[in-house]
Amino acid sequence: MTKTDFTLEFVTLHERAHVELGHFSILAGVPTFNLVSKSGQSQIQEPNLPRELWDKVERCLELQADHEALEEILGNMDAVDWTKLRAIIYSITSVMVAIEKIDSQNPNPSETHPKAATRVFQLLGHVNDMWSVAASLSGSALPKREIIQAFSEAVILPTYFDAIELAKSTNATSFLDDLGDPEVFFADIMNAKLGHWRQLKTVGAREWADLKNANEQILPLVYKYQAENSTSM
Ligand SMILES: [Zn+2]
Repeated sequence: MTKTDFTLEFVTLHERAHVELGHFSILAGVPTFNLVSKSGQSQIQEPNLPRELWDKVERCLELQADHEALEEILGNMDAVDWTKLRAIIYSITSVMVAIEKIDSQNPNPSETHPKAATRVFQLLGHVNDMWSVAASLSGSALPKREIIQAFSEAVILPTYFDAIELAKSTNATSFLDDLGDPEVFFADIMNAKLGHWRQLKTVGAREWADLKNANEQILPLVYKYQAENSTSM
């Protein structure tokens, strides 16, 4: 598969997640779920949602859709070729950066997408956890620390620097600033994992934590939708 194929696959999975998670019913107001460009204000249908969350709902749903798509496309660290994995991650990052660029050219900047750095923070946070998922599934003979080290050197670190290179080559300066320097970025990944949200320093990590809190209150709407729409076989 080429990088374009990975890009299309990610976008397709992301859009499918919006449908499957009932995001259309949670948000009314079109065009809400156009991945690339959005305009207009959404009408929130759910009166139970506190007003202060309203401007975060769409961004939370974007991270939810990203998360579902990431789980599917990235898969298991043992089951996928690491070079291919790096190409997949690069493709996803390029989509996120492209969307931010398009959004920034919108004369009516909306709050519908999380920052690219926030989405990449979630992406690399997920990649950073792939070894633990794989380790629990495989019972591999290699010492765990060696696997983690190898995976970190072959995938996790290079993908961060791939994102930096992408940002530089496309003049995505806000993304570059929001992502942060490598030491700070990876400290944030670790602090997020440990729940030390007050110690987060990068713009992306901070938006991620802010939306994660909001998302706790939005998730019941997803569960409600799924309960109402589950079909008995
Ligand atoms: Zn979306």
